[in-house]
Amino acid sequence: MNESNVENLLWKQLITATKEKKGRLLQQFSELHAIHVDEIRDRKHLSGDIVCPQCNEIGTSTSYGFFDSAKQRRRYFCKPCNLHFNDLTGTLFHNRKLRDHFIPFLRLMLEGTPIRTIAKELHISPTTAHTWRHLVLQYIERYMTDLVADLNVDSEVLIETSIREINPSHKGLRSRCSSVVPYTQRIYFQYDRRGRIQVSLILLDALKTKRQLIRTDTFISLKGRRLSHVNSSLTSQRVLHHNRNVQYFQSKFDMMYTNMRGVAQPYLNRYLHWQSFLEHHRMLNPREKLRVLLLACL
Ligand SMILES: [Zn+2]
Repeated sequence: MNESNVENLLWKQLITATKEKKGRLLQQFSELHAIHVDEIRDRKHLSGDIVCPQCNEIGTSTSYGFFDSAKQRRRYFCKPCNLHFNDLTGTLFHNRKLRDHFIPFLRLMLEGTPIRTIAKELHISPTTAHTWRHLVLQYIERYMTDLVADLNVDSEVLIETSIREINPSHKGLRSRCSSVVPYTQRIYFQYDRRGRIQVSLILLDALKTKRQLIRTDTFISLKGRRLSHVNSSLTSQRVLHHNRNVQYFQSKFDMMYTNMRGVAQPYLNRYLHWQSFLEHHRMLNPREKLRVLLLACL
């Protein structure tokens, strides 16, 4: 049986297990996916010297002893800024309580499971689940911003664009939250023919009425020039000028937005990046996806 099958089987057992048996399975599942501290160290300090998480200086930190009794997580001290830190400082796995629940939590999040169901499934509180989700989304926002280059800069290929607008939702915010200025949010979904995707959010100062909002406007562009809508009888042109990739991507976002019954304005960008993270890695199997997600949270 290959690794992927082992993972699937364990996951199935975990989901259907009773509360008593779940603890052990959660631990097993976490161990199966845990990223070894050596690999975390290698990824965080690419130059081979330790980078201080506070001053970002390379080579100012000295290693002394270990953080844990298993002698895996190393401790460091940065002299110039007087900071003590260890291998997991600055990562999502630093100081997480309920450590065994966290990796299964990520797996459920990848599957698009609603937060309340996740909380019930893993026997954690909905508040914890909510906090965790937002932490993950922050890491993903950073990861995706670094990953995706601006498609429009190198536009030698056809780009499919879809525009959609929404008025802000106040979901999850305090009822009289005055710090949020309401804007119409215009989202650009873009997909180029090399399979690269990009989402960008622009805030328009005035709110629009429901009728004025752009539900969808899709077009194809080449080198920044919008190509006119094609009513050609030539099959070859119709094949070339389709926009099904971006439409599909946008419909996925719409589905998530509807299922969540809106996303509060300050968080919309995070959810957009999450959606593009999922789209970016859609070809991976669940085990690979989880690994990419874990590495993105370092
Ligand atoms: Zn420092």
